[in-house]
Amino acid sequence: MDVRANGGDAVVVRGSRGRALGLALYSDRSQIALRVLSRRPAGPDADAAPGAIEGVIRGRIASAIAFRKSLSIDATAWRLVHGEADLLPSLIVDRYGDYLVVQTLSQGMDRLTPTIIATLTDLLHPKGILARNDPRARTLEGLEQRVDLLAGDVPETVVVTELGVTYDVDLRKGQKTGLFLDQRENREAAARYAKGRMLDCFSYNGGFALVLGRKCDETIAFDASEEAVARVKANAARNGVAVDARVGNVFDELRGLERLGEQFETIVLDPPAFAKNKAAITNARAGYKEINLRALRLLRPGGTLVTCSCSYHVNEAAFAEIVYEAAVDAHVDVTVVEKRMQGRDHPVLLGVPETYYLKCFILRKVE
Ligand code: SAH
Repeated sequence: MDVRANGGDAVVVRGSRGRALGLALYSDRSQIALRVLSRRPAGPDADAAPGAIEGVIRGRIASAIAFRKSLSIDATAWRLVHGEADLLPSLIVDRYGDYLVVQTLSQGMDRLTPTIIATLTDLLHPKGILARNDPRARTLEGLEQRVDLLAGDVPETVVVTELGVTYDVDLRKGQKTGLFLDQRENREAAARYAKGRMLDCFSYNGGFALVLGRKCDETIAFDASEEAVARVKANAARNGVAVDARVGNVFDELRGLERLGEQFETIVLDPPAFAKNKAAITNARAGYKEINLRALRLLRPGGTLVTCSCSYHVNEAAFAEIVYEAAVDAHVDVTVVEKRMQGRDHPVLLGVPETYYLKCFILRKVE
């Protein structure tokens, strides 16, 4: 590759005979040297690229926002820009009420921050924009991990509602950009089956527990993080949903519940990504299998298991196989009631398998 650019430049990509192939962001640090923004050539020379790129970014953000508006989402928080799937590779923008959280995850996108802020301000007039540029992935791009206020003000907690549940969200320190927005539609779907005694494993601040708990007689939620459990308690009180939120390691807790002979009608498993890279796949498979096996044992016949994986290194077929192996070992018959993925505000770009990362199966233990 003949490179005449600096890391972070917007460049015109040319074929071997000099024909312009498109516009891209160039990185001199990442394993991904080029992130293509447009396959339409920008003009005869590379000097035209920076201005052309700004126009592309503005158009793409406007189109991403318009698409989300068309979805009639039952919430005040959702993903506005989902990277590659909005043809804006390495850019994430989430909306939390009047506030926006932005992540720029490559040198080129990072440098385009002023254009991104100006576009979002023009189109949405937010009260504040925060950059949550603390994902570890930034270090692979040669970028610092940092959190910055980019515009306006962002309070310590922002109140949002989702599916009729109100949450206090800490945009600066919460996991991801504050909430797991990608599970909204799975919470809504799972609530249709929720009943009886419910167990929410890996609850974070209670997304599943609060939405499903409204239909259950008793709800127990586990998370390893004390902070998360404190938020489940606060959110439960605020929404008038009874949730017994406990700090615990799900692997140990499931074993303990089994020893006590406890049974549940509804169980949710929404663990963190066990396979963050290819090297971790074997251990991840074992982890997924163990929690699914134990959950199937704790589930009453006729009960519902909502089981998720957000590791894109474990694809849908592999995850289905792991859950099937768990069912075989638990000596139970299981039907797949729904196969689901991340919400529609996190669409999947065909041809980019990494954009299909969240799998969610709603299963029934057959009597
Ligand atoms: N279900 C949540 C999102 C879960 S994210 C929602 O709908 O919003 C994964 C959560 O698992 C994190 O909150 C993390 O603190 C927790 N976690 C990670 N490992 C754990 C373990 N071994 N036991 C219990 N919780 C764990």
